[in-house]
Formats: sequence, structure tokens, C-alpha cells
Amino acid sequence: MGETGSRTFVIIGNGVAGTSAAEVLRKGDPDARIVLIGDEPHPLYNRVALPKVLKGVTAPERTIIKSVQWHLDNRVELHLTTLVTGIDTARRVVTTDSGETFGYDALLVATGGTPNTVKVPGSDGTRGIYPFQTLEDTKTILDRVRQSKGAVTTGGSFIAYELTEGFRHHGVATTWVIRGTRFLHRILDEDGGRYVDHLARAVGVETIYEDSIGGVTATTDGELRSVVTSKGREIECDLLGAGLGLKMRVECLAGTPVKVNRGIVTNEYLETNVPGVYAAGDVAEFFDTSINAYNQMGTWNSAGSHGKVAAANMLGNRTEFREVPYYTSTMFDSQMAAIGIMPESVPDMEAVTRLNMDRGIYRRLFFIDGRLAGAALIGDIRVRRELMDTIRSQRQVSNAERENLLSV
Ligand SMILES: Cc1cc2nc3c(=O)[nH]c(=O)nc-3n(C[C@H](O)[C@H](O)[C@H](O)COP(=O)(O)OP(=O)(O)OC[C@H]3O[C@@H](n4cnc5c(N)ncnc54)[C@H](O)[C@@H]3O)c2cc1C
Repeated sequence: MGETGSRTFVIIGNGVAGTSAAEVLRKGDPDARIVLIGDEPHPLYNRVALPKVLKGVTAPERTIIKSVQWHLDNRVELHLTTLVTGIDTARRVVTTDSGETFGYDALLVATGGTPNTVKVPGSDGTRGIYPFQTLEDTKTILDRVRQSKGAVTTGGSFIAYELTEGFRHHGVATTWVIRGTRFLHRILDEDGGRYVDHLARAVGVETIYEDSIGGVTATTDGELRSVVTSKGREIECDLLGAGLGLKMRVECLAGTPVKVNRGIVTNEYLETNVPGVYAAGDVAEFFDTSINAYNQMGTWNSAGSHGKVAAANMLGNRTEFREVPYYTSTMFDSQMAAIGIMPESVPDMEAVTRLNMDRGIYRRLFFIDGRLAGAALIGDIRVRRELMDTIRSQRQVSNAERENLLSV
């Protein structure tokens, strides 16, 4: 407790998880001191809108969701461009890179992840190689793509797709290099992979599978000139966009007893093993009661809900996180949705798939013990609401209903 008897809540990370938590904390406790610390220079902005910024159809400033004024109005002490460098969980104190310290009664770690980088011979010091995670990344890539004559993207998941689609939107000849046999190789089957490949090629994107970036070459002044794949193919390009997954940002917990596995381990209430310390959003590896296993999300809505649930628990209102996550995205000139539990979390789910090439519809449903657990959709994705309701209901799905849900 602070000197006045009111509580202090400290939140590390002002993304959607951290900022949603701050909002709930303020509503739930008008007297609390709330400190929100983030190392980026912006208040909460919409990461999901970054692909539109990359395409040049949304101005960067339009992505800002919560103004600095909102924080002032709600008495949320916002510290931007401030890195939390250490936590003393015994004394309940957080330290920042400027040496400032903040005591807390409850702490939320909502630090997300940082993109894995392309580390290959020639990449060090070469300009033109970018991750795609922040608003600043996006502005930098946008400047570059507007002058680009040829681009390569690498990665087999949504971020690599968004980069590929963004580059081709600017009319830049783009080659997409995927290490696996297809896009989202754990989620889609061969038909799904073939269909995404068809959609990519239809808009002029060249695709390469079962290969990766083996090295890069640069001009004498350090600008990217080409990539060389591991199988020895050289592709001329001045822009390389990487979507190689995230490494969780758990550095600030070093030396603390907080349990970290792939992410920060929590129970279903988003409490870590250390009293008073919570985790939420992409960084939280939480106990998911819908599958009775630990799970990690990478979706905007779930991160926001995580923040709200963590805040409720920090306020003392015991609340379990239980939600069907979903991710929707364009897929070149089509659309895609991934709903519920994915095979990354539960690898041995029963899967049933239908593809109607003529109508451009792909549907893959995942079942656990006869109950619908997840779905991947391409093309007409309007069925997603019905699928989400079915997942939420946790009821047995009859064969007839299965066929109905699969009818494409
Ligand atoms: C380009 C792009 C497109 C996406 N599209 C979609 C989509 O269409 N649909 C969807 O559902 N999801 C999408 N996502 C994923 C979604 O944006 C994330 O799941 C969500 O933003 C995670 O929120 P978070 O608050 O957990 O973490 P983050 O948004 O990563 O926020 C964490 C913040 O903490 C800061 N931080 C980390 N460590 C420290 C520290 N030690 N001190 C201070 N600050 C720290 C970070 O810099 C960051 O600002 C997309 C992501 C990207 C990058």
C-alpha cells in the first residue's frame, strides 16, 4: 500500500494488454496509483492496422487508439520510451533504464514479443532488412518500399504474408521464401497450402518452399543487393522483409523467481507463481481450461481480454480467462480466418478439410473428443460466428452437423 493507504499498480508494456488493464484498474479503483511503462515512443496504437499503413492506405497517426491526454484524464502515469530493466519481486520494486524505481502492490507484465531477425552471412550492417512489429518499423519499411525495385519476404506465417501483400500492393516484384512445405504448415493441409499458393501466384507473387535465406549480398555502400537461399538460388532485391516469429520479451524478469517457459507461465487467473505478479497478452503462457493445457495466443482481441482479466484479478475480483481467440486477415484477393485452438497448441487434434476450388472456399475444422475446437477458413469466412458459437458451447457435434459446417 502507498502512504495514503491506496494501492499502486505497475504495468510493464503499453500494448493492448497493458493499456486495457490500466483502463479496468482505473474503473475498479478510483484511488489507486497506476503506472504504465512502455519502451516505444507512442501511446497505444493499433498493431492490427499496421499492414494498412504499410500499404499506404492508412496514415500512421490514424493508428493511435489512446491519446496521451486519455492517460492524463484517467490519471494513468504513462512513461514512454522507458525500458524496465529489473524487477525485485521480494521488495516489489521495478527499475527503469533511467534509474527510476516504482514500488508496486501488484505488477502486470505485458511485454509481448520481439521479432526474430535474419542473421545470415552478410546481414550484419546491411541496410534493407526489416522486421515488421512496430509503428516505427512500418514507417521505415514504407519509405523503403516506395523506392524498391525488387523484394523478398521470408517466413511461413501471417506477418510474412502481410509483408508480401504490402510489397506487391506497391507494385514491387516480390518473392516469398518459406522454409516449410506451405504457408501455415501446421494449420493448413496440403490442399490449403496449394490454395494459398494459387492466391499468391494469381497476384504475381513468386513463392519458394522448403528453402530459407542462406545469406545476403550488399552494394559497396551497404545497401541490400540480393539474397542467396540455402539451396543456392540468388534473388536480386533491395528489400528483405522478415516474419520469422517472435521471441518473448522476458528479459526484465531475469534473476526473479517468476517461472518462464516459452512465455511467462500463469494459471487461468493470469497469476504467475510469484504473489502479486501477473502476466497478460502475447507474453503470457497461461493455463487454458478449454484444453486443460498451457497455451499462448498471438491475437489482438485475446491480448486485450487478457489485460482486462488480469486487471480484475489484480483488483481482487477472481476472474478466469476463457475466450475463443480469432484472427482474421486478407489473403491476397481473398480472406482468411483462424479461430479457436490451433494445432500449435494441441498437435494431435482430429482434422477434417474441404476445398472447393471453383468457389474459392477452404474449410478445415479441428475436433477434440467430438467437440469443435478450432477452424481455419479461406474465402467466404462468414461461417466464423457459427463456428465460434459451436466452439464456445463445448458440445458434441453430430456427423450431420459436421457435414453442414463443412459444406463449401
Ligand atoms: C503487423 C502485425 C499485424 C497483426 N495483425 C493481427 C490481426 O490481424 N489480428 C490479430 O488478432 N492480431 C494481429 N497481430 C497480433 C497482435 O497485434 C498482438 O497479438 C497484440 O498486439 C499483442 O498485444 P500485447 O499487448 O500482448 O503485446 P504488444 O503489443 O507487443 O505490446 C507490448 C509492449 O511492451 C513493450 N515492452 C516490452 N518489454 C518492455 C520493457 N522491459 N519495458 C518497457 N516496455 C516493454 C513493447 O515494446 C511493446 O510496446 C498483428 C501483429 C503485427 C505485428
